Amino acid sequence: MIREAPARHLWRPYTQMRRAPPPLEAVATRGTRIVLADGRELVDGIASWWTAVHGYNHPHIAQAVTDQLARMPHVMFGGLTHQPAERLAARLAALLPGDLDHVFLSDSGSVAVEVALKMAAQMWINRGVSGRTRVLAFRGGYHGDTMGAMSVCDPEEGMHRRFGAYLPDQLFCDLPRSAAETTALDATLAAHRQTLAAVIVEPLVQGAGGMRMHPPEVLATVARLARHHGLPLIADEIFTGFGRTGSLFACEQAGVVPDILCLSKALTGGTMALAATVARGEVFEAFWSEDPAAALMHGPTFMANPLACAAANASLDLFETEPRLAQARVIALRLADGLESLRRVSGVADVRTLGAIGAVQFSRPPDLAVLKSRLLDRGVWVRPFGDIVYLTPALTIADGDLDRLTDAVVAVVTDLG
Ligand code: PLP
Repeated sequence: MIREAPARHLWRPYTQMRRAPPPLEAVATRGTRIVLADGRELVDGIASWWTAVHGYNHPHIAQAVTDQLARMPHVMFGGLTHQPAERLAARLAALLPGDLDHVFLSDSGSVAVEVALKMAAQMWINRGVSGRTRVLAFRGGYHGDTMGAMSVCDPEEGMHRRFGAYLPDQLFCDLPRSAAETTALDATLAAHRQTLAAVIVEPLVQGAGGMRMHPPEVLATVARLARHHGLPLIADEIFTGFGRTGSLFACEQAGVVPDILCLSKALTGGTMALAATVARGEVFEAFWSEDPAAALMHGPTFMANPLACAAANASLDLFETEPRLAQARVIALRLADGLESLRRVSGVADVRTLGAIGAVQFSRPPDLAVLKSRLLDRGVWVRPFGDIVYLTPALTIADGDLDRLTDAVVAVVTDLG
């Protein structure tokens, strides 16, 4: 039987509508907390899918969006431009490493990845090279929920595996964590380079695929091999961008300048839907032509939405005026310290941290409903998945609230272990 109103009309994400308990109703956010309709106030452990790096309701972002709302909430971007977008693009180009200078704005992480894949494919077409129809991606990766993005997610374990037959056929390798894996990647690239358009990677951490971290040298190896085989590297920094790993962008830690880089999530401090696909000069040049057909054929209706651009500019102001990266480094130490005791708990396979990310992996997938409800009982908002419970709090979280998060995870996991 279909559930009666009010839940009847909203089809929820990643949710078995028949069995899932009704969602909690949020009525407000306050700092790094979520206020529920029943009056409870939850400490947010995951910053709304890793977006709200400055916490919620930051007055500087709120003011910027309010001002922009009065001036010009939206205007189409085909044939028109505006200061919020121009300013944002210039600032991103200045902040990103190397000559990542050409900023294409869209409205979600998945679309930023789609645009990156199209940029790489059309770069080859525009250069007059045919047959470059596949992308090399890494097992364990996650890049979004749209068809192209799904095609580069982990094909075996990933959440989109059942769509395999509908997706472009891509090539997958293990991240090169060992000499043997480096040799295997090198050999695969050598064998398939004529059919490949690009290599795509999540720098330093594969997020929604399992919070799997890798050292900067692994990313450097991927970049070196992609370059050696003449392939553009797409870095998906949708999770890692804007301080999550302790540096503004994760690629910086490996000294890597990818050819195309994707941003979203924390781009607006988690307040508005906005994404950016940023290309180096060499990629952009392939589109620089007298031929109209060589133009990048993409243009989302809400691309460069002025409200979202104003929010993103205000968010970048906060990275300049408030000590976000220093806060990320303090969180890194506190998370590592706070979760440390779980290493000795039976039923825990691994505890790993990187920057402001802490993940606990169970030996066997736990009962997620029980895990979630016990964490809720302790007043914290966390969304475990598979065999992972993780924390990615706002970079502004107070020490006391961060301790509350780690204490709750330690207590609940120990209890279940
Ligand atoms: N790429 C990565 C690395 C992500 O973590 C995500 C979302 O979690 C995406 C892409 C997709 O972003 P969105 O959900 O905004 O489409």
